[in-house]
Amino acid sequence: MSITDQIQQVRSEFQTDLKSLSSENGSVDTIRIKYLGRKGLVASLFVQMGSVSKEERPHMGQALNELKSEISTQIDTLGSGDNSQGENREEFIDYTLPSDPLPAGSIHPLSQVMEEIKSIFLRLGFSMAYGPEIDTEFYNFEALNIPRHHPARDMQDTFYISESVLLRTHTSDTQIHFMESHDPPVRIIAPGRVYRNEDISVRSYCLFHQIEGLYVDKGVTFAELKGTLDYFAKELFGKKVKTRFRPSYFPFTEPSAEMDVSCIFCKSKGCNICKKTGWLEILGCGMVDPEVFKAVQYNPEKWTGYAFGMGIERMAMLKYGVEDIRLFYNGDVRFLRQF
Ligand SMILES: [Zn+2]
Repeated sequence: MSITDQIQQVRSEFQTDLKSLSSENGSVDTIRIKYLGRKGLVASLFVQMGSVSKEERPHMGQALNELKSEISTQIDTLGSGDNSQGENREEFIDYTLPSDPLPAGSIHPLSQVMEEIKSIFLRLGFSMAYGPEIDTEFYNFEALNIPRHHPARDMQDTFYISESVLLRTHTSDTQIHFMESHDPPVRIIAPGRVYRNEDISVRSYCLFHQIEGLYVDKGVTFAELKGTLDYFAKELFGKKVKTRFRPSYFPFTEPSAEMDVSCIFCKSKGCNICKKTGWLEILGCGMVDPEVFKAVQYNPEKWTGYAFGMGIERMAMLKYGVEDIRLFYNGDVRFLRQF
């Protein structure tokens, strides 16, 4: 039998198979394999092309390619269910069915970390306090022992609204507002947004969140501060973390310290995140400076207290291993869905 005849034979066999497919509900895949598979009928015809004379070959090749594309087009149409029967079928909609569920949102990772930190301190007897995001120089700087021309003002690039009104650079302003309107003892945490006029990069953003803590009573000691923050770190990062305090400087506390936790990524062996030191800095703290008490008419001879403050973004970055702070703000659901 010549190849031309064989091509015709395969074509008519395929048509027969197609008809039986629609009446008997056979599998499209079975037909696909029979004709287009690696050892299928079309492939075996291609093998025979080797024995065709040079003159005939272009003609035969074209006929064979036509057969192949004819078969694959028809099979594809069947496979996608896009046959003429479907087009003619009347569309039936059951209006009583419930709609598909809408994808549920989730709580932002910053809110999750904020809630977790708040709940730890609420269990320790702290209560919540809130301050304004737009505040005056007095509450943001002067009452916190940072007078005009104090070099510490350069540490915080500030957005000014007018000469004395600004976007707060830290949540410490809430301490002053609260102490002005409440007599001691005081035990509060103050969460909120703060603003810095900084270039946006992997590590810094023009706004971020802080939580401030303040405890004022008679005879409050640095040991109590250490005990409270050590408990906090173990609650947030796990019982196995170690803490250490390094002397530091803040205008509103004296003495001041920075607290580190043992690196949660390398278990203190030294990695890139802890810069090979085995320690991660997480917050600043200290005993309230008597000058701050004077600004709110508390008697520094009678009252002592401690304060601490931390960045929520930094905590979230450490807790979840996030390396770019901007991810918290650009609203990419691929990122947010992971929390
Ligand atoms: Zn490390």
